[in-house]
Amino acid sequence: MARVYNFSAGPSTLPVPVLERCAKEMLEYGTSGQSVMEMSHRSAEYQAIFDQTEALMRELMNIPENYKVLFLQGGASSQFAMVPMNLYSEKAKADFVITGQWAKKAYKEAARYGNAHIVASSEDKTFSYIPKLDPKDFTKDADYFHICMNNTIYGTKYHTLPDTGNVPLVADISSCILSEPIDVTKFGILYAGAQKNLAPAGLTIAIVREDLIGHAMDITPTMFNYSTHAENGSMFNTPPCYAIYVAGLVLQWVKDTFGDLEHMKAHNEKKAAILYDYLDHSKLFRGTVVPEDRSLMNVPFVTGDKEMDAKFVAASKAAGFVNLKGHRTVGGMRASIYNAMPIEGVEKLVQFMEKFEKENA
Ligand SMILES: *Cc1c(COP(=O)(O)O)cnc(C)c1O
Repeated sequence: MARVYNFSAGPSTLPVPVLERCAKEMLEYGTSGQSVMEMSHRSAEYQAIFDQTEALMRELMNIPENYKVLFLQGGASSQFAMVPMNLYSEKAKADFVITGQWAKKAYKEAARYGNAHIVASSEDKTFSYIPKLDPKDFTKDADYFHICMNNTIYGTKYHTLPDTGNVPLVADISSCILSEPIDVTKFGILYAGAQKNLAPAGLTIAIVREDLIGHAMDITPTMFNYSTHAENGSMFNTPPCYAIYVAGLVLQWVKDTFGDLEHMKAHNEKKAAILYDYLDHSKLFRGTVVPEDRSLMNVPFVTGDKEMDAKFVAASKAAGFVNLKGHRTVGGMRASIYNAMPIEGVEKLVQFMEKFEKENA
């Protein structure tokens, strides 16, 4: 078996020890005589797995008591609708910063149900930076203020948060969850599709401040109401049981390997710096994002020549570095280097890029 280095933006690489544990427990979890995939979600055995996953999440992310952690389905994309349906009051107002496709989709969905207002956008420069925000432009009586914390496609990240005062800040953290500490108390809601940094696809996490639950719009489908899931321990219906179990293993892996998210961050900074340092000195490749807004998780880069980009993507794939093709709106390449990407993966990629540069400069 030869595992590749998988730089996919999502679903993405998972830690090998987690996959090995899944394999080991595939036919029988503990002494249950069955796979986690086959367990009733109402069984004591499964509830223990679920509770352990939530406890680890709360511990690692330092989630306060007055926040619910909901284990949902429907992807981050469902949250684009679920957030306004649960947070819009009669006036139905929300502010948005457009920093890429995901932020725009969140805005468009919220605009279907109320007055979604664009505070700032970085579309003028293909989302290669995070706009400077002036609180004077914010809607004073908005029901929430939405940001996409790490922009998976464009490789930007907020290094400072907007000060929204009493307006709940809501963030899509799909591609940065668990990559570094987040001060949960600064947010009304944090949500994430799990398939980038946490688990296989199928699980969506919503971390919701309790006072924001219970005021959904009348039209809200039962399954889109946070109350439904908060009141039923995320088991109103069948949760994505197996993905939750893998999330638990990933959380345990982060804890055992790095200790806490401060150390996870230090590791991610070290890893990302290897690639950024090379890009800053390369004569063939360059990063597309302004240095001050660079993501730790997603690193887009180009040669400036489409044919050369395609040649590099093909050559890298043949050498065992897969999914490096950039998003169609940016072109070029993108290396997603989530928690589970080992440092050696990035070191070897850079060695390969150096060699490619020498041969093609
Ligand atoms: C991948 C991604 C999404 C979409 O997530 P789904 O779970 O596929 O709906 C939304 N936002 C961000 C920031 C993403 O990276």
